[in-house]
Amino acid sequence: MAPDALETYRKKRDPRRTPEPVPQDNATNQGDGNTFVIQEHHATALHWDLRLERGGVLVSWAVPKGLPLDRETNHLAVHTEDHPMEYAAFHGEIPQGEYGGGQMFIWDRGTYETEKWSEREVKFVLHGSRATGRYVLFKTGGKNWMIHRMDPPAEGFEALPALIRPMLPVERKRFPAPLSNYSYEMSWDGVRAVVYVDGGRPRALSADNDDLTARFPELRELAAKLGSRQVVLDGELVAFDQNNRPSRALLESRTNATSPSQIRQLVRQVPVTYVVFDVLHLDNRSTAALPFVERRALLESLRLSGSSWLTSPTWADDPDAVMTAAQAQGLAAVIAKELRSPYRPGRRSLSWISVQTTR
Ligand code: MN
Repeated sequence: MAPDALETYRKKRDPRRTPEPVPQDNATNQGDGNTFVIQEHHATALHWDLRLERGGVLVSWAVPKGLPLDRETNHLAVHTEDHPMEYAAFHGEIPQGEYGGGQMFIWDRGTYETEKWSEREVKFVLHGSRATGRYVLFKTGGKNWMIHRMDPPAEGFEALPALIRPMLPVERKRFPAPLSNYSYEMSWDGVRAVVYVDGGRPRALSADNDDLTARFPELRELAAKLGSRQVVLDGELVAFDQNNRPSRALLESRTNATSPSQIRQLVRQVPVTYVVFDVLHLDNRSTAALPFVERRALLESLRLSGSSWLTSPTWADDPDAVMTAAQAQGLAAVIAKELRSPYRPGRRSLSWISVQTTR
């Protein structure tokens, strides 16, 4: 190991201010030479730190979208300073204002095999619990590298779809029989949005494929919370007024905003909530063919509830009570969803029946 291998690492950190390990002399080689760790780091921008033990230190790359899951997409990996071996066990909160301020936890840890290690290319096989398989890092210029998965994806892997058009309800005057075949939920008078979460980043598309992502920065925190899980959610973006009623007028001020400064200002003035009611893809599988009742159970297992998102409540029976509650909240309709029905992308389907309130 070079005598100053950790010089850059130490310069960036004050051991009195950060809980990170800051060894004052060059650590002796503590591993068996084959340790890897991947830390999920909720810094200013979410990223995953990939560290491979080499020459007594952890050689490190910051990967904004995490490890690629298949061979089709390479991810950027930014080479960062070598870290001490002790860092392989580090997790915790780096104080705001310090270098890398934010929450860090160990996403995976294990051993790896080196197949090739040169200045421009590192080929390796990960043996972790979440990260397994052959990868190659290759330098593209300066600190920038790319990471590519060389193995086929795991058995049964389904890639995140690029587009799922929302399923739509049919309007009726009354709820369909038998009532027990359906569950009931509010219609929120919002903007329908399908949100694709990949590498902790959101992409939101409206029903007519308008890209809403930049206009609703609230979705970024939701996506970061989902971490490395690939998820497609269906729901509505809703602006609630002072009386906690959905307001189309308030919402329009948000959908009409275009400039970044205008959007930043409006996020504070007119907060928007993403009300989620379905999950169409989860953990590398499409869930669209599952019956509604099973998709709903998966959605609830995600416990989506945060500063600007929530899971739309649903009721198993008594649509009249739901109707009364919807009316009291000034909502336009209640939707009955057939428990056994799959998600039918882009279709107006009798499996979803919308009944107007008499507001
Ligand atoms: Mn980091």
